[in-house]
Formats: sequence, C-alpha cells, structure tokens
Amino acid sequence: MKDLTIASQIIRPGESTEININIARLPSRTLIDTPIYVYRGLEEGPVLSLTAGMHGDEINGMEIVRRILDNGYNKVKRGTVLCMPIINMYGFLNYSREVPDGKDINRSFPGSKGGSLASRVAWHMTHEIIPAIDYGIDFHTGGSMRTNYPQVRCVMEDQRNAELAMAFHAPFTIDSPFRPQSLRQTAAKHEKNIIVYEGGRIHSIRSTGNRRGFKRHTSFNETFKYDR
Ligand SMILES: [Zn+2]
Repeated sequence: MKDLTIASQIIRPGESTEININIARLPSRTLIDTPIYVYRGLEEGPVLSLTAGMHGDEINGMEIVRRILDNGYNKVKRGTVLCMPIINMYGFLNYSREVPDGKDINRSFPGSKGGSLASRVAWHMTHEIIPAIDYGIDFHTGGSMRTNYPQVRCVMEDQRNAELAMAFHAPFTIDSPFRPQSLRQTAAKHEKNIIVYEGGRIHSIRSTGNRRGFKRHTSFNETFKYDR
C-alpha cells in the first residue's frame, strides 16, 4: 500500500491522524486552524472525503460529519476516510455563509495561494485535498431561508458520479450540472468524483434532514432534472 500525503503529512496504512491546515489569521493575528481527520484502514481501498461547512452557516452538514467521527463510522478496514467538518472556519465563527470578505468559497475554485481569503481556502482544497481522494461527499443545507428536503446532487451523465449518488440513496437524487468554479467542478477536472448532499436549513440541526411534513414521500427514491 502506498503512503498517503495530505498537506505535506504522510499517513501510513492503519494510521489515524489529525492534520491542521492554517490558511490565514484573524485581524488580532490569532491563527485559525482548520482540522482534517484522516483514518486509514490496513487494506488497500479508495480514499473518501466527507466535507462540510463550505458555507459557514450550514451547521447541519458539520454535525453530520461530527457524528460520523463521534460514532467511529470513519474507522474503515479498507481504504481511507478523510473528514473535514468545517471548511469555512471563518464563516462558521461569524455565523455567515461567506468568508469575512464576502466571497463564496464554492465559487472561488480552483483558487489562488495569494488571492482573496475564499480563493486561498479553495487553493488549499484543490492542492491538498482533491489530489489525495478518489470520492467525496460534500454536505450542505438549503441556502438563505430555504429549507431543503434531503437530496443528493450529481451529474447523471457521469456514470461513476451517478453510481455514487444512487448508492447514497437519499430521498431525492437530482441531476445537477457543475456550477462554475465549484469544488465539484474542480474535482471532476482532476477525475475525482464528488456528490453534494443538501438537507435542512442554515443555523439549524435537523437529524431527519427536515423530512417532517413530507413523510408520505420518504419511501421512494426519485430522480429528476434540476435546471437552475
Ligand atoms: Zn452550501
């Protein structure tokens, strides 16, 4: 089995580690770390990333990844699971979707090392996370005041992307084209497969992904075209 390198750190088979990447600092000059938890099984297998908090106010996704870590669901026998519960630490601290300069990280890929704060975060994801993974699930909620029914977004014409989405088996699977300068689009350019999960709303933790009131629909899995 090959060694895995993330943010210049080597992780060997059977190792579990926490990597802290430092992207910028607060105006007080306090350094803000963004933790990444990596668990490698002893057997060869794919590398899966579970990321959340690209939008700092979408805490439902962060809680999903936190519970995965808390329950040890990331401790796989084969392959590797990389958990990054809060991509946008700055937005999270400010209760905001964007980073403090008002930019959206998910419209700032592939990013630039010396660019705006959003662009720097994107650059670290592009150069330190994407090269290390094979597959990814990026957790979100509805934006603004919208509450989203639990759904997975993928590109149906990409067979592996669609397969990954179907295996996830959310109540809805939506054909969603890549948005320009997004994590998903950049990963696809590197031939890495990422799907997006959306459930619930901002500033809120909903264990059921907010399926209340939709109960009669929860037993089927429906696919349809998402054309925004
Ligand atoms: Zn989001």
